[in-house]
Amino acid sequence: MNLLTLAQKYNTQAKCVKYLEKVRWNGKPKCPYCEESTVSRRMKIPFRIQKYHCNKCNRDFTVLSGTIFEASKLPLPKWFQLIHLMLTAPKGISSMQLSRTLGITYKTAWYCSMRVRCAMIDDEIDLLEGIVEQDESYLGGRPRRRNRPGQTSENAAILNQMEDSPKKIKRGRGTKKVPVVGIVEREGKKRVRLEVMEKLTGKNLLAMLKRYVNTEKAIAVTDEYPAYAKFEEELQHLVVKHKEHFFADGELHTNTIENVWSIIKNGLRGQYHALSKKYLPFYLAEWAYKYNRRNERPSMFAETIEHAVTEEKPMLDYKPTKPVAEITTGDAIRKAAEREATAKRAERALRGRKPKLRATAYTKNKSKRIKKKATVSRKPAKRIVRRKTTNKNAAKNKLAKEYGKISKKHR
Ligand SMILES: [Zn+2]
Repeated sequence: MNLLTLAQKYNTQAKCVKYLEKVRWNGKPKCPYCEESTVSRRMKIPFRIQKYHCNKCNRDFTVLSGTIFEASKLPLPKWFQLIHLMLTAPKGISSMQLSRTLGITYKTAWYCSMRVRCAMIDDEIDLLEGIVEQDESYLGGRPRRRNRPGQTSENAAILNQMEDSPKKIKRGRGTKKVPVVGIVEREGKKRVRLEVMEKLTGKNLLAMLKRYVNTEKAIAVTDEYPAYAKFEEELQHLVVKHKEHFFADGELHTNTIENVWSIIKNGLRGQYHALSKKYLPFYLAEWAYKYNRRNERPSMFAETIEHAVTEEKPMLDYKPTKPVAEITTGDAIRKAAEREATAKRAERALRGRKPKLRATAYTKNKSKRIKKKATVSRKPAKRIVRRKTTNKNAAKNKLAKEYGKISKKHR
């Protein structure tokens, strides 16, 4: 589908709403607040979106409630065109460009595209396998010499001499640029995972590898940066020595991930020009989403619409509701922790004599509990019984005496 056919197919609000309702509910409207399916239709108001009423929580909703389209006045046909434009630009498309193409304001374009980026956050759980390349890159401006105030022509001449001097300007590590780490599969689905990393330590890099890669079925290829040395404990690890072989030594290279960096850097330089550090993870998510689906272009639009209406949205207003890193990588971190916990449990079960260990531990506790109860209840029980009988008798006698007295009085 190209932009023209899309514009013809979904040219009215009603057609878009119908499509979204089909994708989201498939004919059975469901309350987005309490998941109740006993809902009733509200009377249709002309030029408005069909409203539904939940019979359980008494709230009204439309197909847009809780999605990225919620509370937006932009007509849905334009939304659809905006999503299409974003998906067909592998390097990205700036909000200024969107505003010019669609005839909307820059602010609207920014607001809508950020919401679409939220829908593009990959929450796949399947891990990367086979040969994986991990590498880091630094995003930011080009390295430049500073133009100092009070520079005379003489100074400029000295500076020109300096340009020829062998002293290099720092390019990546050690500058204020933002470090980004990526892992890419060389074969199979050839998917990529990208993350902003504040500190490039061995621990952080290994944690990221475990988050996205099945370490039992993968071989890691990295450059000779010493922080990758820890990888050898987890999986087979090959190192490309860029100093010896500039690009590649046969199959030993990290050129697949370098291609990803090329797309990102071209996009940053040619489309966005500048990105804030705060929102960079959203843009990385967009690049990764499009890279991972580059061989499934025809189904990409339908998939994105499905993501847009079925997933929970962390950015419904101009500002994200949670820290950006939590939105973009929170799920992956949580899932990795779950995987580690189950692995530990399995290991603990293996260490025991029999795999039944969990059951025996439970029954052990149970028997202890029973024993405790029995000992507690047995000893005082006798005393209580004795006391009770005496007390009972005393009470009986007392009552009898009193009753006797009362009865005598009344007689
Ligand atoms: Zn409800």
